[in-house]
Amino acid sequence: MPRIKLVIFDADDVLFSSTSDCYLGQVTLPTKRIDEDAIKDSAGCKVRLDEEARTVLHELKKRGIHMSIDSINRPREAEEILRVLEIDRFFEHSKINFDDKGHNIIEILSDFKAKDNLEISPDEVMFIDDVEQFCLDAKKALKGKGKILQMGKDINHLSELLNLL
Ligand SMILES: [Mg+2]
Repeated sequence: MPRIKLVIFDADDVLFSSTSDCYLGQVTLPTKRIDEDAIKDSAGCKVRLDEEARTVLHELKKRGIHMSIDSINRPREAEEILRVLEIDRFFEHSKINFDDKGHNIIEILSDFKAKDNLEISPDEVMFIDDVEQFCLDAKKALKGKGKILQMGKDINHLSELLNLL
């Protein structure tokens, strides 16, 4: 099996806890950090990072694995949350928009090649999402290669992905 070079995360209910009050793109700016892993928006809505996310991000970084986000969300709101929680620096060529998730994966890979001169083949990609349809879209975009993990089905905790690289 080829080594995984890139992990692409979904945001809501994967990197971010399902106990959050709202999705990333639904917050009302500005947001305020209320503890290490959570923000509260100006309407009182709380969004919390998954409790294992920070550890997993640090571990992937330590292992030299690239990370990106493929999320259907309003980008301005989602990007502010990543920045306020100081995790934006972990991700490269993220696609936070309302495009097809499979199309976003292809764009992420092409950005790595065009902007960083880094060739990442589909079988070197791990993709994690909680929605089955998005996992199917990813599988199609990666031509049946790569490692697709459905949160809540293939893994139940983010840290499990570290054993599957
Ligand atoms: Mg999700």
